[in-house]
Formats: sequence, structure tokens, C-alpha cells
Amino acid sequence: MGAGHPESAQRLDAIDDWILAHGLDVALERHEAPLVSLQDVELAHTHGYVTELRDMLEAVAASGECKAIDPDTIANPYTWRAALRAAGAAVQATDLVLDGHVDNAFCNVRPPGHHATRSESMGFCFLNNVAIAARHALDVRGLKRVAVVDFDVHHGNGTEDILAGDDRVLMVGIFQHPLYPYSGAVPKGENMVNVPIPAYTRGMEIREMIEAMWLPALEDFRPEMIFISAGFDGHREDDLAQLGLVEADYEWISLRIKAVAERHAKGRIVSVLEGGYQLSALARSVGAHLRVLAGV
Ligand SMILES: [Zn+2]
Repeated sequence: MGAGHPESAQRLDAIDDWILAHGLDVALERHEAPLVSLQDVELAHTHGYVTELRDMLEAVAASGECKAIDPDTIANPYTWRAALRAAGAAVQATDLVLDGHVDNAFCNVRPPGHHATRSESMGFCFLNNVAIAARHALDVRGLKRVAVVDFDVHHGNGTEDILAGDDRVLMVGIFQHPLYPYSGAVPKGENMVNVPIPAYTRGMEIREMIEAMWLPALEDFRPEMIFISAGFDGHREDDLAQLGLVEADYEWISLRIKAVAERHAKGRIVSVLEGGYQLSALARSVGAHLRVLAGV
């Protein structure tokens, strides 16, 4: 997204380096992300939006120049294919998990997705990777109930916009409030469990809120699969927000989600990277998350 922008390619490299440096690669199976089909994209986004976005981003690719969608969200000539691959990873991961080829999956992808609404790009996001994959699980693969867990520090307004009122979905989220995108305090649907958190809240208090607000709702809902919008910008060292989460908290959250998945969903989890911009904290936090998912 241009020099100095926090949503940079170095984020994925930092995660890959951490995996290699800690020998976690031996516990993982790697898959290259395919391009998503536009039919899958349109399970979450309007046909008009997808057509306009494609035309615009293909024009950006042809021009060789960057184009600002909003002050934070800049498209470059590779954005369209990267967005298709990020969503393609989430869909492929869903199929691999549902077909029993892998127990669970983490998609180390960008651009992120959870701010992309039905019909708008914003907040570094173009296609809503998690919403597309969740709808693929429901509409294409025939699941009856899926949960979306969003622990990015920013409210997943796009995912809420797409999935609010879809009673096949339960979405639970925590986010710093008030903070970009300044939504979420009033949930848009009865299937949304939104937990706004004031700045400077520490990990222990956040764990208590998750225990009280998320877990009973997830237990009642009995999801057949869990999707995670895995953002790590709530880390104490991340400058985009002011929450006090550390690696141990991400490990705890991951363990709790995994326990719900094991009780109700045959362990089926697809986790997709959202935010996380302090490279070292991001890599360490993803590492803690992956160790839980991989069970090592
Ligand atoms: Zn974020």
C-alpha cells in the first residue's frame, strides 16, 4: 500500500520467518492459495460491487500506478490478484478442513478482509475473506451453523454488515471502542455478540469478558465449524491501538476457541489473518496461535 504503510508485505515474511526459526514448519502442511471464484465472492458481496471492484482494480493493474480508495486503503497493480488469492485461501482451507484433509487451517494472507462490507472497500480490505469462506461452508458445502470469532482490535464491521441477520451464523467479537471504524457498540443483528472494550484494558480483563460473553453464546449455538478473523493488533506493542494483549492471551483465546470446536465442530477451524502491524509482536502472537491450532 506504499512506503511506510503498516499493511505491508513484511508482515507475512515475519510470520514465515518465525515459523521456520521455531521449527513449526514440520508440524504444518503448506498449500498455495488459489484464486477464488467470483461465484464464491458473490455469496458475500453484491454483484455490482464485485464487477466495479474488478473493473477498477484491473484498470489499476493496466496503469501500473497506485490508486487510493480512501486515505488508508491503497490499491496497487497486484491488489486484485492478491485479494482473489487471499479469499481463495480461506475457501480452499474450508474445503480442506471439511474434506478431512487437515484438522484446521491458518491462512497467512493479505490484504485482510473484515472491514470490507457487502458493497464497499475500506480499512485496508477489499474482499471479506472470512465472510466469503463462511458463506461457502453454508451455501456450497451445506453446513447448517457456523461461528465467526473476530479478535482483531478493530470492529469487524464488514463481516457484521454481510452476516447480520443470517441466523445460520453466530459472530462474536471483541474490539477497542471507540476506535476505527467507530461501529459495533450497537449490534446490527441478534446473531452478533459485540464486546466493545475501552482503551488500555489488559489481557486478564479481556479474558473475563470473553468467558462471560462469547463462550456461553458459542456453547448454545453449537457451531459445526468456526472461522476466526485473527487480528493481532490488540497486542500491547502494536501502535495502531491501545489494548494490552500479549502472546499468552492469544494462546488462551485460541485454546478456548479450539475447545468449543472440539466439543461441537469436530475440531474444524479456519483462521484467517486480519490485522497486526508490529512485526515482531505479530509473528510471536501468530506463533502462539499456530502452536495451539497445531497442538504442539
Ligand atoms: Zn485491525
